Amino acid sequence: MFVDSHCHLDRLDLSARNNSLQSVLDAAKDRNVERMLCVAIDLEQFPTMMDCIEGQNHIFASVGVHPLHVNESPVDSAELLRLAGHKQVVALGETGLDYYYQKDNVEQQQESFIRHLQVSAETRLPVIVHTREAREDTINILRQHADTDVGGVLHCFTESLEMAQQALEFNYLISFSGIITFRNAEPLRDVVRNIPLEKMLIETDAPYLTPVPNRGKPNEPQYVVDVAQCIADLKGIRVEEVAEITTANFDRLFSKASV
Ligand SMILES: [Zn+2]
Ligand SMILES: [Zn+2]
Repeated sequence: MFVDSHCHLDRLDLSARNNSLQSVLDAAKDRNVERMLCVAIDLEQFPTMMDCIEGQNHIFASVGVHPLHVNESPVDSAELLRLAGHKQVVALGETGLDYYYQKDNVEQQQESFIRHLQVSAETRLPVIVHTREAREDTINILRQHADTDVGGVLHCFTESLEMAQQALEFNYLISFSGIITFRNAEPLRDVVRNIPLEKMLIETDAPYLTPVPNRGKPNEPQYVVDVAQCIADLKGIRVEEVAEITTANFDRLFSKASV
């Protein structure tokens, strides 16, 4: 059984699926992708996202504000804390730092990231971290504010092995997306080879980043199997083993999802 540890089910392109999310979920189930974590990008859109996955007890949610949304939708800690109490919510985020797309609001991004980490310490919910071209600041903030008993994940990881290893010290997992299947991603495949499977999650980040061999199609949770297959090939193990271990990692990190 596979878990897609990071997708945006409320943002999928359903035009080829008669606007039916259920057909996406059925296709995932046919490939043994039984569970998924639907990740929030801001608090305004959170209720719509929750409507979209309501009643699906194999789909979990996070709540938080994406670093690229902090300008229009700054995080309110009290509101974050309140929404974190929802029974389907098993994580905070995605939060973090993205200096690739926005460099003019570094301070706001950092402040928002720190607030999520503070609420994590309070709620005991792990944090989903988005980090792009902000290695040093991400690690410094985690060093100062991460609760290492609770931990979290660096999602859609595209950075260096050194950064991944630093994150492991804070009890963070590393999540790999379809990017590892891309032709020019050899340095990232080297990171995969050097991180123990016990420290990994797999994700699609759907609707973005469809893995090979389905590039060009809209991404969906079923394609997390192709991410797992790539990891299996790189590690020289069976895909079933990748499924089993990454699912166990998911349950260990997002413990609220397994009760
Ligand atoms: Zn992200
Ligand atoms: Zn995302």
